[in-house]
Amino acid sequence: MPTNMISKVLEKVVLPPDVAPRVKAGAASRTSVLRNPNMQKLQKGYLFPEINRKREAHQKKYPEAKVISLGIGDTTEPIPRIITSAMAEYALALSTPEGYQGYGPEPGQKTLRKAIAEKVYPNMGIRDTEVFISDGAQCDIARLQMLFGRDVTIAVQDPTFPGYVDNGVIMGQTGDADESGRYGRIEYMRCAPENAFFPDLSLVPRTDVIFFCSPNNPTGHVASREQLQQLVDFARRNGSIVVFDTAYAAYVSESSPSPRSIYEIPGSREVAIEISSFSKSAGFTGVRLGWAVVPDELLYADGSHVAPDFDRIVCTCFNGASSLAQVGGLACIGSEEGAEAVRKVVRVYKENARLLVETFESLGKEVYGGVDSPYVWVRFPGRRSWEVFGEILEKTHVITVPGSGFGPGGEGFVRVSGFNNRDRVVEACARLRNFLA
Ligand code: PLP
Repeated sequence: MPTNMISKVLEKVVLPPDVAPRVKAGAASRTSVLRNPNMQKLQKGYLFPEINRKREAHQKKYPEAKVISLGIGDTTEPIPRIITSAMAEYALALSTPEGYQGYGPEPGQKTLRKAIAEKVYPNMGIRDTEVFISDGAQCDIARLQMLFGRDVTIAVQDPTFPGYVDNGVIMGQTGDADESGRYGRIEYMRCAPENAFFPDLSLVPRTDVIFFCSPNNPTGHVASREQLQQLVDFARRNGSIVVFDTAYAAYVSESSPSPRSIYEIPGSREVAIEISSFSKSAGFTGVRLGWAVVPDELLYADGSHVAPDFDRIVCTCFNGASSLAQVGGLACIGSEEGAEAVRKVVRVYKENARLLVETFESLGKEVYGGVDSPYVWVRFPGRRSWEVFGEILEKTHVITVPGSGFGPGGEGFVRVSGFNNRDRVVEACARLRNFLA
């Protein structure tokens, strides 16, 4: 490829400041290695680095401003002591001959797999051997995409968490993106207030894999039992696999009739993989721990099992989750005190989300989510999301996330997150009231 073409391609990439290389793109190269064309298809880097760039530029412009981030979905509450104590004890024991442990079983510690099967999936028939412990749901999305390979077709909710699409692009499952940001060969299932955040499945063409997230990031919508039954029936009719992401399941209230797991739906074991995480419940975004459930009944077209292939991917590409993180995970769900400590953290974020909903509603805004979810989804009719993001930042020094970053269907919305400490959320609500009133 001629050097000027290479530099054009490289210029398309927006790198966040901390990974921006010192050497200018297009400089004379010592290698003749061509860039993976799939990397070239990815748009504008990842959403959050782009937001970080804008935040840094804003902070430079207003050095005195106290910027409040209600943007990135990172947790802020400390991890409960009952969980860190268990991890600390285990960490110290690693320094003794009796307590030292090296590699563990690649799919995870038996005790944790069993605890997840029993506590997260009571009466759903999930066996411990069907649970694969991981370093988080994001990483499982990448490993599942590797499992499916380049040739599958995928469908995603629109808007949705960008990980499903971006990993599909990297795998080579897609064509190029068009002007609106839609990639060729992906089915975008519009989920908007007008359709109760659930697509009319009679209009959705068959795909091999359907990524579906509930409670949804970014809309905060929790799919109802009827909607999920439709999804499972649709997958069964079409011979598709549903990858059901329950990273926010802990936010679904005890009193809610909506399922926390796809395995509450009859017929799902033959068509669904579930991925989940300790990130947003226990604050393990940095500790890193999650899991995937691949049921024994899930088979490929030729009748062979999917689970052994996933096990192979886990063994080959991963080698298992950190033993320290797994001890923490067990402390979260292995005892009632641990589980209650986690519920307490979740209640903090849910109350934050409630305050945000109340603020936007009192200003007459159209607001969704924020009840069984940490995310609040606010509509600004006729406006572009990035423009609203910029205006809110400029006037209130509050970071939100432009809805269009989650897919073309997010245009006209911003996502506001309850992940921050109470004082900052209260302060952000006051600033938003002043600005939007
Ligand atoms: N899935 C969804 C829907 C998410 O919103 C996120 C993180 O924001 C993830 C997965 C990634 O979670 P983890 O920290 O477990 O990798």
